[in-house]
Amino acid sequence: MTARIVDGTGMAAAIRETLKPRAAAFAAEHGRPPGLGIILIGEDPASEIYVRNKLRSAAEAGLRADLERLPATATLADVLASVHRLNESDVHDGILVQSPLGPSLGAEAEQVVFDAIDPRKDVDGFHPVNVGRLVQKRPALVPGTPLGVVEILERSGVPIAGRRAVVIGRSDIVGKPVAMLLLHRDATVTICHSKTPDLAATAATADILVAAIGRAGFVTAAFVKPGAAVVDVGITRVTDPAIVARMFPPGSARHADFERRGTLVVGDVHPEVADVAGLLTPVPGGVGPLTVAMLLSNVLRAAEGGRRKA
Ligand code: NAD
Repeated sequence: MTARIVDGTGMAAAIRETLKPRAAAFAAEHGRPPGLGIILIGEDPASEIYVRNKLRSAAEAGLRADLERLPATATLADVLASVHRLNESDVHDGILVQSPLGPSLGAEAEQVVFDAIDPRKDVDGFHPVNVGRLVQKRPALVPGTPLGVVEILERSGVPIAGRRAVVIGRSDIVGKPVAMLLLHRDATVTICHSKTPDLAATAATADILVAAIGRAGFVTAAFVKPGAAVVDVGITRVTDPAIVARMFPPGSARHADFERRGTLVVGDVHPEVADVAGLLTPVPGGVGPLTVAMLLSNVLRAAEGGRRKA
């Protein structure tokens, strides 16, 4: 079998198109567009790319997006002051503090900062109020990446109810919420992680397999039931030629890409899975674009005063 490869970029563009008239209607009614405030601490190159992407996509969808930069030397009090300003702002409906916050703020800072965001403006869905509402299947602001995973499955016509789903990864921002969203859609869900024995055997029971680990090419064909829908959330920037060669043989287009640039962005799923799966999301161009589109959808939802069905 050769898997259907999902066009996440096209799907994200289609979602952004549906946001434009909603943004215009909001602007007509309120005399201002829906607004997103982004706080970026320091100059992490990956964060710079993610934030630029979010600002551009927001503008394309007719949203206002403002970036507040703080230096890498910012204190926790500085960050909290910015969050409080955005909480009080009349023109910002959504607030996002780009993660990671940086090492100088300390290990607990992320939680303290996310807890300080007004839950009604928490468009990343990291606030415990939204996490709790999601678990209870009440309307909530839900993180963009898990929403993107479910959106891909639904738009691709993959049945979820009654199917067996395996999620590899148990983080608060991907693994746990995606498992919850699948559970709420009546899948039978197993969450696997770094301490799971016989991981490949468990994964191979899945009709829907979601990989959110952060290990290049970890999920091989042995993990995949023939015909399964495989969603690759992982994003790893690889510089080791041996890892690239293990995933993409010399002479292939991706290998040539690596030789030109000296670096390659890859997912958790080995390309050989395309020969076994029924559906596969590529990296790049799969879940990533959906993540941003769903974030923007959350900004609109926050502006419109609603939360998303969990
Ligand atoms: P994380 O590091 O917080 O969690 C990784 C999870 O993988 C952990 O729960 C861990 O138990 C599990 N894990 C690690 N090694 C394992 C192993 N050998 N076997 C089984 N499980 C293992 O990461 P995260 O924030 O959940 O992100 C996961 C990946 O998804 C990363 O590559 C990240 O870059 C990517 N990501 C992509 C998007 C997107 O928009 N596409 C968004 C968020 C995260």
